Amino acid sequence: MEAKKVVVVGGGIAGALIAKSLQFHADVTLIDSKEYFEITWASLRGMVEPSFAERSLIPHRSYLTNGHVVSSTAINITDTDVLTADGSVIAYDYLVIATGHADDVPQTRRERLKQYQADNEKIKRADSILIIGGGPTGVELAGEITIDYPEKNVTLVHSGSRLLEFIGPKASNKALEWLKSKRVKVKLEQTVNLDSFSEGAYVTSSGAVIKADCHFLCTGKPLGSDWLKKTVLKGSVNEFGSLKVDVNLRVEGRKNVFAIGDITDIKEIKQGYLAQQHALVAAKNLKLLITGGNESKMATYKPSGVMAIVSLGRREAVAQFPFTTLIGIAPGFIKSKDLFVGKTRRQMGLEPPSCGC
Ligand SMILES: Cc1cc2nc3c(=O)[nH]c(=O)nc-3n(C[C@H](O)[C@H](O)[C@H](O)COP(=O)(O)OP(=O)(O)OC[C@H]3O[C@@H](n4cnc5c(N)ncnc54)[C@H](O)[C@@H]3O)c2cc1C
Repeated sequence: MEAKKVVVVGGGIAGALIAKSLQFHADVTLIDSKEYFEITWASLRGMVEPSFAERSLIPHRSYLTNGHVVSSTAINITDTDVLTADGSVIAYDYLVIATGHADDVPQTRRERLKQYQADNEKIKRADSILIIGGGPTGVELAGEITIDYPEKNVTLVHSGSRLLEFIGPKASNKALEWLKSKRVKVKLEQTVNLDSFSEGAYVTSSGAVIKADCHFLCTGKPLGSDWLKKTVLKGSVNEFGSLKVDVNLRVEGRKNVFAIGDITDIKEIKQGYLAQQHALVAAKNLKLLITGGNESKMATYKPSGVMAIVSLGRREAVAQFPFTTLIGIAPGFIKSKDLFVGKTRRQMGLEPPSCGC
């Protein structure tokens, strides 16, 4: 019997893991705008230590040894095919949407490594640095810079009333105090007009003047669903740009289309470890359907409570667990040294289980 065709769109952790999990059970094609999978939560370390990205940028072909990779952007979906920007038309029996957040990063791993090198040069050249955005990206970048380059003057401007709004206020306050203790100037409820930059100074919405040699824009990225609004799935995209899924992670009203990861409308925080859980549940369900199993036997996904760790440099972190919020080297021990890179690589079958990194 001919193998069923499974097409996965999006090669972040959700798409990469489901493609890997299904590659010996179906004829799998992974479509990603990039030729590599990036461990996104390790990206800020790459800006202060570019060689770190050598392990966090993983060519799709190194873990997808029995599948096809199409390095192009998906632009349309019909009931039978996915169309890509490079003109490919890829037929599917089952489709998985895992397009997470839209990010304008280079298509090749080589160019992405160069980008980290350039960011690092920019940091090294500057005496003063402005970070715009106080979500996890801005806070983690401020942590990385202030620990590796303590002599730099760092200012962080955030439009909201507290940092890390995706988790609770206790974690926000702890992160704020930690940054202040490292001499980072934090300005809340202000935005920066980038056009205002002149002679080494930026002006904020409340008229404050910030002296800085350069800036990094760390504001939230939009969901990767704009393109879906012109496809057969347009009716399943909600007003926030998320794809509506049922308890089995199938796109609402569709028998053969699944969605996983940050793109879904599941009511929980958007985290990679949850995207991995989605991938494993959807893979299980796809294996069942591919082998003619009964739909009623499909696994269900239960949304998770809030749990997140935001690293603060190489040793410390602030963490929100279900019953407590912690800051310092205890949560840092879990995440901040290796940023889960060794763990993720092992999960993708790329490092032996004995590797202690
Ligand atoms: C600073 C920071 C720290 C974080 N720390 C953690 C952490 O410690 N632990 C944790 O679990 N989570 C963490 N997260 C969250 C985690 O990064 C995300 O939840 C996770 O990356 C979501 O994975 P995803 O596969 O759903 O989407 P993404 O990682 O957004 O991947 C989407 C993929 O789809 C591709 N794509 C998009 N549109 C198209 C298209 N039209 N055609 C083809 N390809 C397309 C993109 O190229 C990309 O490869 C952190 C996030 C940030 C910003």
